[in-house]
Amino acid sequence: MKFVSVFWLILLMAILWGCQPTATASLPVQVEVMAVATAVPPTPTSQPTNQPAPALPTAVPTTTPSPTPAATATPTITPTATPIGPCDQRDPGDDLLAFVTLTYGLNRDFQPADLVPLSDYFGNDVTLGYPTEVRQIIIEPLIQMIDAMHAAGLEPLIASGYRSYSQQAIAWDKWNREYPERAAIISSPPGHSEHQLGTTLDFRSPELEEIVGEEGIEFHTYFYKTSEGIWLLENAHKYGFTLSYSREAFDVTGFYYEPWHYRYVGVELATELYESGNFLAQYLLDTRSLPCVP
Ligand SMILES: [Zn+2]
Repeated sequence: MKFVSVFWLILLMAILWGCQPTATASLPVQVEVMAVATAVPPTPTSQPTNQPAPALPTAVPTTTPSPTPAATATPTITPTATPIGPCDQRDPGDDLLAFVTLTYGLNRDFQPADLVPLSDYFGNDVTLGYPTEVRQIIIEPLIQMIDAMHAAGLEPLIASGYRSYSQQAIAWDKWNREYPERAAIISSPPGHSEHQLGTTLDFRSPELEEIVGEEGIEFHTYFYKTSEGIWLLENAHKYGFTLSYSREAFDVTGFYYEPWHYRYVGVELATELYESGNFLAQYLLDTRSLPCVP
C-alpha cells in the first residue's frame, strides 16, 4: 500500500511537473500575444487620431497628379506662345486678322504677296488717280461695296490702300512736319499701320471740305458726318469691312478715332462686330494670343 501511495505520489508529481513546462511555454506565448496586443492598440490608437490628418496629405498627393496634367496642359498652350518673336521681325503672311496696333507692329520688310493696283478695277473718280494697291482678296467685295455706294447716289473716294513700311515712314514724317499736333491722330508710325496689311482703305468724301470748312482737307473726324461716312458706318460690314478705330478703340489700339479707315475682315466677323458693337482690336485681344513681343 505504501508503495502504491508513493507510486501515485510520484505519478502525480510527474504529471504536475510535466504540465508545468507546458504552462511555462504557453505563458510566453500569452505574454507575447499580450505584448502584441498591447503594442498594437497604442499604434492604432495614435494612428486613427492621426489618420484623418495623414488622410489629407494622402489626398493631396492624389490631387498632385492633377497639377501634373495641368502642367502638361500648359506646354500644349506654350507652343502657341513659343513662336512669338519680336514684333520687328513679325510677318503675318496672308492672315486677314493680324493684330496690328501702336504696340504690336510688323517687320519692315513684310509685304503681302497678292497686291494689285486699284486702277485695274476702278476709275479715277474712285482712285483719284493715285497708284493705290490692295490685296487681291478684297477686290471683289470692294467692287460690290463701291457699286452699292454709287447706286445709293454717293461718291466714295479711296485715298489710300496698301502702304509699305517705307511709304508709311514718309507719310508719318510728312504729317509730323505739317501737322505736328495732329500727326498721332491721323497717322501711325511705320510698322504699326494696318495699311501695311494691304486690306485697309482710307475713304474720302467730296462733302468733307464744306462740312469742316477747310479747303483741301483730306482727313477729318467730321468724315462721320458726310454721306459716305454715314453709309459706310451702317453698311460696310455687309461687304466684310469694319471700322478699325472707333471712338472706343483708343485704349486698345493706341490710335484715335478714324471714321474713314476701314479694314477687310470678312462678312461674318464684320457683321458680328457691327451687331455686337465691338471693334476688331478688342475682339482679337479677347480671342487670340498676342502676336509678338513689342
Ligand atoms: Zn487709314
